[in-house]
Amino acid sequence: MKKYTRGVHFDFHTMPNIDGLLSDFNAEEFAETLKNAHTQFINFPARCNIGFSYYNTSIGFKYEGLERDILREVLDACHKRDIGVAVYINGGLNHELAYHKPEFCRQNEKGEVIINDVTDNFFRMMCWNTDYKKHFFTELEEILSYGVDGIFIDCVQAKPCYCPNCMKKMQELGVDITNEQAMTDYQQNLILELYKEIKKFVGNDIYLYINSNISIPGIHTHAEVECLPSSKLWGADYFYPASSFARPRFNKRVYMTGRFQDCWGDFGGVKTLSSLENDLYDALLSGFDFTVADHLHPKKGLFKEVSDKIKAVFEEKIKYEPYTLNAEYICDIAIIADEEDFGAPDYLKGASRMLCELKLPFDIITPNGDFKNKKLIIIPKNLSVSDTFKANLLEFYKNGGKIIFIGNGIDIAKKYDLLNGVTLIADDEFDNSYFTFENSDIPFSSYCPAKIIKNNGGEELSKYVKGMFNFIYDGRHSYFYRPQGEVTEYSTCVVKDNLAFICFDAFNAYASNFLRENKLLIKKAIDKLLPEKLIESEDLPSTAIVSLTKTDKHTVLHLKATYPSIRNGRGIIEEHNFIKRATITVKGEYKKVYSITDNKEISTTVNNGKTTFVAEDILGYNAYLLSK
Ligand SMILES: [Zn+2]
Repeated sequence: MKKYTRGVHFDFHTMPNIDGLLSDFNAEEFAETLKNAHTQFINFPARCNIGFSYYNTSIGFKYEGLERDILREVLDACHKRDIGVAVYINGGLNHELAYHKPEFCRQNEKGEVIINDVTDNFFRMMCWNTDYKKHFFTELEEILSYGVDGIFIDCVQAKPCYCPNCMKKMQELGVDITNEQAMTDYQQNLILELYKEIKKFVGNDIYLYINSNISIPGIHTHAEVECLPSSKLWGADYFYPASSFARPRFNKRVYMTGRFQDCWGDFGGVKTLSSLENDLYDALLSGFDFTVADHLHPKKGLFKEVSDKIKAVFEEKIKYEPYTLNAEYICDIAIIADEEDFGAPDYLKGASRMLCELKLPFDIITPNGDFKNKKLIIIPKNLSVSDTFKANLLEFYKNGGKIIFIGNGIDIAKKYDLLNGVTLIADDEFDNSYFTFENSDIPFSSYCPAKIIKNNGGEELSKYVKGMFNFIYDGRHSYFYRPQGEVTEYSTCVVKDNLAFICFDAFNAYASNFLRENKLLIKKAIDKLLPEKLIESEDLPSTAIVSLTKTDKHTVLHLKATYPSIRNGRGIIEEHNFIKRATITVKGEYKKVYSITDNKEISTTVNNGKTTFVAEDILGYNAYLLSK
């Protein structure tokens, strides 16, 4: 497979009736521009979500009036310049085909094919239980015959379908068609079978990425985390949970951001270079390759404004590549999350933000994943677990591993007989309990229901304070104002030996309100269990993100200063932020620290297995090479 670390993804979804489609587009110039911009790989459309093809198809709808075979031209021009080309095709959407063949569509419970508001791109979708599948595989066969380097299949979603074919198959399998979850599960299984068929068809020699809610190593050749952080749809809190989830599962990982200020299809919205660089730094910090997405203009193709920014951000990337290519991310903490939680549910957003702010690198691992090399794992909720997980968890604990159980995750501690140091009394009867923190006289909000636990020989870090009322309407008043009640004999946080228990859903609470004491309570528990940190600094602000990555030869400390400013609820980056000089301590003895960004040696103090150095004022991002 063609290796790459710098990619460009092209969307090209084209409405009908455009005269002279791509009339100003020259594939040779296009490929030359990409080459000059240091592009190694592109995703290029063969057939778009509107349903038009840009190659010579025997079965699809080639764009009316388009005489040229754009895919052939682009492939040849790119291959001539050693740029790999994966081909984009939409799996879930094909509006032109759906218009002609409504029987290929997903249906709602009324048997309608218009299933959403027509201003939504997903207003109708294709059903894989119809002959659409045959049609799709024929397209795939045609595309593969072009000699492509990969296939990118977009918008494959598991959503209930009420079409006659799906209804018949669900009936045969005994799926409860009154239960939406059961219908979704049926579609999920259908898609997993489809994945296998596609993989068999595409083979092992080229890249395959199916953009869906689930990625499977062995089928997907790599993780391609799509995230437009300045768009409402993803937001600034998406990338870290999604990338931390993908990282332990895939050796090749790509961060696909976009040049758009808003969302896909924002033709005239171009982010600032600082904003693109911010995304690049997140990729470097997380051990990801980097792809920037664009939408080609139907006549002009690629704008210079866009290719210039792509060139500039790739030049920034190249500076760090000798030290970061194929780097492994170093961390000793893992959050355990259910397989279906990929895509950043709130509790993982809360957890990721909290651990980033605390400068604690982490992975997110599914219950059947491998966490034996971690030092601390966090069980943030009552997970769907198997006997394998139980055996792995008990083995981890037996070997000295530390575990924090949070909220309903305490049910797992009970199930596995790990309630050491606490007794589980009951579920919380209050919808708004509180917790004590250090010497403050105010009990702080938990925001989420809790488990009532009692200290039983452990060290109590916080007490449970009950609410005064629940939120009820008693026929006379609605209990909107629900102050703190009495401090109780129960605990909010207890640590005993290698275990800690936090009685409320602290990550969801953090994702909803970002209460500092909530974060500091978790920090206290982590400090007890894991006093030795990979990275420490008293000087860095909460907005700074740090990580350590390692290649065969190089260990690098990454430090990002830039963060979005909030503009009407959205995180926007217009320019980079500063961090004032900060003292940083790293685990390990390094005689030399070299700032790759400033091209400068920095003196260090080595003491007790730790290295301390001073990072001078930082604008945006800095990477430090640590040498023994
Ligand atoms: Zn169907």
